[in-house]
Amino acid sequence: MKGKIIYSIVVPLYNEEAVIEESYKRLKVVMEASKENYEIIFVNDGSFDKTRYMVEAMCKKDEHIKLINFSRNFGHQAAITAGMKEAAGKAIVVIDADLQDPPEVILEMIKKWKQGYEVVYGRRSKREGESFFKKFTAKIFYRLLRRMTSIDIPVDAGDFRLIDRKVCDALNSLPEKNRYVRGLVSWVGYKQTFVEFKRQERFAGESKYPLRKMIKLAFDGITAFSYTPMTVVGGLGGVIFSVGLISTLYILIKNLLLHSHVLSLSLIMAVNFIMFGLMFISIGIIGQYIGRVSDEAKNRPLYIIDSKIKGEDKMKEYEVEENLKNDEVS
Ligand code: UDP
Ligand code: MG
Repeated sequence: MKGKIIYSIVVPLYNEEAVIEESYKRLKVVMEASKENYEIIFVNDGSFDKTRYMVEAMCKKDEHIKLINFSRNFGHQAAITAGMKEAAGKAIVVIDADLQDPPEVILEMIKKWKQGYEVVYGRRSKREGESFFKKFTAKIFYRLLRRMTSIDIPVDAGDFRLIDRKVCDALNSLPEKNRYVRGLVSWVGYKQTFVEFKRQERFAGESKYPLRKMIKLAFDGITAFSYTPMTVVGGLGGVIFSVGLISTLYILIKNLLLHSHVLSLSLIMAVNFIMFGLMFISIGIIGQYIGRVSDEAKNRPLYIIDSKIKGEDKMKEYEVEENLKNDEVS
C-alpha cells in the first residue's frame, strides 16, 4: 500500500453473505473516487455463513482490505469497537454492510471533515423498507434518551459516521464494556456536524438486530448516560409511601370515630398486585444498572479475536510478472 492511510472504513459483518460483495463493490468505487489512500476493515462478528470465506477471497485480491475474525458473535457495538482499534487512518468511517447507509454519503462526510469538523454523523431524514414497529420504537427511544441525559446525543442517527483520529483515540481510551458507541461519540465532544441521508432498504438478507438485541442496545444507551430511571423509581416510592401514609391515617381516624371498615378485601388485593408489580419493575431497573457494574468489575475483554488477515498486494506480484516477461523479451 502506497503512502499513509488517510481513511479507514469500518464495516461490521454478521452473516452478511447476501450483501458483502455488492457492499464491497460500492465502497470501493466511493473510496477510489476520494483519490486518497484508504483501508476497509471488515469485522466478522462470528458469522456462521460464508461471510468469512468471501472476505478472505477478497483479501487475496485487494491490498486495501483488512479482516478481523471474532471467536464468536460479540455484537455490533463490539465489532465497531474492534474496527476502531485497528484503524490507522486520519479519519475513520463506520458503516453498516447492508447498504442501508449509502456509501456515497461518505464523500459528503469527508468534505465536512476537510472543513474542520471532527465528527460528521449521518442523520436519517427518511427510513425506507423498515417496519412501522422499528421506526416507531426508534423514534420514541431517541427522543426519550435525549430527554433523559444532559449529553447532546443526536436523534435519528445510528452509528454511520465519520470521526477524526483524535476522536477515535479518545473513544479507544474508554474502557467501558456495554458500549453505546453513538452516545460515547457525543460524550467525547469535539466539533460535530451532520449530513442528512435517506436510509435505504436492506440490499438483501434479513436484519441481524432482533428485538432482544434492540432492547439490550436501548438499555445500554440509557444506563450509560442517565440515572433518570432510578430517580423515577425513587420518586415513585415517595409517592406510593405518601399515599399509603395518608390513607392509613384516614382509615384509622374513620375507624376510630365512626367504627366503620372502609376498604374491602378485593380492593386490598388489587392494590397489592399493583404494588408488587411496581416493586419488581423497580428491582428490574436497578438490576440493569447492577448487571453492568458487575460486567465492569469482571473486566473481561469486549471481544476475542480469532484471526486477523491483511489484503495481499496482488498488484506488486503482477508488476513482478510483467518485469520478468520484459526481461525475457529483451
Ligand atoms: N451486526 C454485527 N453483529 C451483530 C448484529 C449486526 O456485526 O450481532 C452488523 C450487521 O452485519 C450490519 C450492522 O451490524 O452490518 C447492522 O445490522 P443490521 O443491518 O442487521 O441492523 P438493522 O439495520 O436492521 O438495525
Ligand atoms: Mg441494517
